[in-house]
Amino acid sequence: MYDVIIIGAGPGGLSAGLYTGRMGLNTLIIEKLTPGGQITQSSEIENYPGVCEVKSGLELMQCWPEQTMRFGAKIISEEVISIHQNGTSEFNIKTSVNEYQSKAVILATGATPKRAGFKGEKEYIGKGVSYCAVCDGYFYKNMDVAVVGGGDSALEEALYLSNIAKKVYLIHRRDEFRASPLTVNKVKEKENIEILYNTTVEEVNGTPFLQNAVINIKNEKKDLKIDGIFIFVGMNVNSSLVKDLCKLNEYGEVVVDLNMQTSLPGLFAIGDVRQNSVKQVIASAGDGSVAALNVVKYVKNLKG
Ligand code: NAP
Repeated sequence: MYDVIIIGAGPGGLSAGLYTGRMGLNTLIIEKLTPGGQITQSSEIENYPGVCEVKSGLELMQCWPEQTMRFGAKIISEEVISIHQNGTSEFNIKTSVNEYQSKAVILATGATPKRAGFKGEKEYIGKGVSYCAVCDGYFYKNMDVAVVGGGDSALEEALYLSNIAKKVYLIHRRDEFRASPLTVNKVKEKENIEILYNTTVEEVNGTPFLQNAVINIKNEKKDLKIDGIFIFVGMNVNSSLVKDLCKLNEYGEVVVDLNMQTSLPGLFAIGDVRQNSVKQVIASAGDGSVAALNVVKYVKNLKG
């Protein structure tokens, strides 16, 4: 029986595990992929306080698992398929290969990139459609690519790609970005980024790899010759594991109080999966520490 099981080993889950381990709780972290989380797919992080040189997400997260394990937390690579409470306050966590029990659970499952929804998007994944510039950008060295979206992710990744590709078309459906003004200015200053406002992608095609996108600019269709297209149109939260256990809001985000406690005692949620998350590494890490300290209190109270 673990004191706490943390599901997800991104910045939130790893920070929570560091704190619970250091406070003496028997801690298990279960991660279905490699520890580090969604941020490992970001090309450049320049706003993590205390880390003064710009790093990639992968570099930033590199030593977090090791630091967390140093204080006793165990990290395993399995996919959680269900969480139950069997009439008691104890949690039963089933993975594809095992079952684990714990007194408390911290959900740190983050979010997954959304699809843009154009024709051919799914069919061309791996053949020209990508959701990760760090992973796939290099395949497009000196080629022409497009980036879809108008938030921080789209603009930051457009900047990253502009240092690899010959030309980057930044396709945004409105005439105003929601990314931070500093990033918007950097994009506007880049000579090989062409911004296409009020534009949507209708379809991509090519044989066997993507060669063309049909775009719609103010109701006029045009062909755009590109070799790849990168989609950054927001995230869907990964809350399905707890949808029958605790309250979710209209966006499927887990409702928590200021202690990161959900509507089910002993179940906590942190980072991108919780309501009102600002979806920043620092905020998820902060959530992790808040949840961990409250889990310590919760477990202590159970012991009476
Ligand atoms: P986001 O801020 O939600 O932006 C999504 C963008 O995609 C919006 O511009 C939206 O257009 C557009 N969009 C949505 N659905 C679309 C569709 N089907 N087709 C075309 N365009 C579509 O998402 P994000 O950029 O992934 O950022 C998520 C959060 O992480 C934000 O809070 C962001 O600030 C944060 N973040 C921060 C950093 C950083 O601080 N360094 C880096 C990355 C992300 P509209 O504008 O018209 O809605």
